[in-house]
Amino acid sequence: MSGQPRASGGHASQGMGEPRPATRARLDALHDALEEVTQRQAGYPANLAYDYSALTPFLRYSLNNIGDPFHESNYQVNTRAIEREVVATFADLMHLPAAEAWGYVTSGGTEGNMYGLYLARKLHPDGIVYFSQDTHYSVLKNLSVLNMRNIMIKSQENGELDYDDLYETVRIHRDTPVIVMANIGTTMKGAIDDLTRVRGILEDLAITNHYIHADAALSGLILPFVEDPQPYGFDAGIDSVSLSGHKVIGAPLPCGVVLTKNDYVNRVARSVEYLGTLDTTVPGSRSGFTPLILWYALEHYGLDGLRTLVGGMLDTAAYAVERFKEKGVPAWRNRNSVTVVFPRPAEAIVQAWQLAPLGDIAHVITMPHVTRAMVDDIVDACAGSSGATET
Ligand SMILES: *Cc1c(COP(=O)(O)O)cnc(C)c1O
Repeated sequence: MSGQPRASGGHASQGMGEPRPATRARLDALHDALEEVTQRQAGYPANLAYDYSALTPFLRYSLNNIGDPFHESNYQVNTRAIEREVVATFADLMHLPAAEAWGYVTSGGTEGNMYGLYLARKLHPDGIVYFSQDTHYSVLKNLSVLNMRNIMIKSQENGELDYDDLYETVRIHRDTPVIVMANIGTTMKGAIDDLTRVRGILEDLAITNHYIHADAALSGLILPFVEDPQPYGFDAGIDSVSLSGHKVIGAPLPCGVVLTKNDYVNRVARSVEYLGTLDTTVPGSRSGFTPLILWYALEHYGLDGLRTLVGGMLDTAAYAVERFKEKGVPAWRNRNSVTVVFPRPAEAIVQAWQLAPLGDIAHVITMPHVTRAMVDDIVDACAGSSGATET
């Protein structure tokens, strides 16, 4: 340890004290409003059912995991060891051997996608990025930030890549490295691109320079816990993957994990002397609190607990599809998905349940806080809505 003298408690709150009455009133009003809207949130893939109060004392520390979590830093108020444990667990779930694994806790799925594309560009500066129409909006933004050449591929009706279109498009660019942005659970329909078919296409066309990044924001934490998962991990040929932490696991601060092979990262690493660490991450300063959240959740659930959690979500999704159908609403979902898709209902229903709509569809995502009673209420509302009877 550093041998620095320690303030005997209270250092963090020094100078702030109790809020003024007007400030307290604002906080109370905000608290009530948040409590209210949290009860009716069924359209976004965030688990709202958690309790991290055991971590409250750590809000008193300026935790900062600046730079590469696998290298020590001169800044000692950090949770880097905890972060490495989180990365190791996620690597295991994604079938990435520990000796080859590198990753860090990100600010969310978007940053993880950016990291994957950034590495892909470092490795294949002239590559073209291929991604389906159903890909998350963050990808187009990231491609614009990174200024990477890209081609959008058609999607099938269920949200999966159109493999014929991918084949044809790659075929006419056979002289160029291929970077595939594969969806392991699309945002609107929960569709999973078939990594075996994607690799088959690259093999058929004798493409040797390729990179596959998986956007597994939501389903990356579902597939490891089901009986018969679609291929999703490093064993299925991906080179990097982005997962969200605030989705299946749930977190009061947005966060995620990005994983790749340490061999790739060594090629982009740059040492920053005054930090005593490596500049391998997109941000410089990084939260030391979010790794603690994910670590705590993993400790709390364990892998069996997560399996139970995910099983419950899938059961509720199956229940929702059944209930919708009973009421004559043509709802459906992809295999191993908790995203239940149905015709867009009246705006009041979208608002009331925070259902994410897109064009003529909407979805309910059966996250752990979405109960069967909530599903019943939504189904009843939709069955009585003009939007549902149009189709
Ligand atoms: C949610 C989501 C993202 C973005 O994740 P954030 O954590 O919100 O940045 C990216 N891709 C997919 C498929 C998602 O569902």
